[in-house]
Amino acid sequence: MLRSLVALTAGLYAILLVRTLVLTGLAAVVATAGSPAAPTAPRRASGHDIALSLGSGWVFALAGALLIAADGRGLTRLMAAGTGPWWLAPLGFAGALLLQDGLYYGLHRLLHHHHLYRWLHRGHHHSRQPTAWTAFAFDPAEALLQSAFLVGVALLLPLPRGTYLALLLTMSLWAVLNHLDPERLPAAFRQPWLGRWLIGPAHHGRHHRRPGCNFGLYFTLWDRLCGTEDQT
Ligand SMILES: [Zn+2]
Repeated sequence: MLRSLVALTAGLYAILLVRTLVLTGLAAVVATAGSPAAPTAPRRASGHDIALSLGSGWVFALAGALLIAADGRGLTRLMAAGTGPWWLAPLGFAGALLLQDGLYYGLHRLLHHHHLYRWLHRGHHHSRQPTAWTAFAFDPAEALLQSAFLVGVALLLPLPRGTYLALLLTMSLWAVLNHLDPERLPAAFRQPWLGRWLIGPAHHGRHHRRPGCNFGLYFTLWDRLCGTEDQT
């Protein structure tokens, strides 16, 4: 049991590592070639962010291994493809995104409380000029909290497994996008998309420059409702 858990954790870590290398590699290509006339040079990933990303990957890998073990024993509510109504996939995906966005907004504000920040969130804010590596750079305790949410979703929500994987993929892609330099991206990325409702690199970049604003993850809804959206 323990040996298979260790092997599964190592296998998942390898998968996460490949994901991170592919996404950060693609981001570097976009930043270098995407906008040669940009006023700023491409940002360089800091060694701190790389080390934190590689370290917190073990927390996510262990959580994933425990989740797969629980799923194998029928302890999750994840469903095989074709076993539920067709609308469960799109509705479950949208619902999980909205749930994650709302919970993350509250958690993120809590992480910035001065009693918690140093232990839980300071690592993610080490770089004032975030890069794709910052997207995965978390202190171990924050990685644990994020893993707990992902495991909780699988334990509580009746989602097709494909929908759950789509949620994980969306998280990774959106996280990388939010930490890119908008000046090195096409003009459409320099403003929040869809008339200010979706969060992109311009919106989240302001959170890294002024950590008292823009706490949202996917949607600007909670920042707007709670008065924490940067208006400049
Ligand atoms: Zn923050």
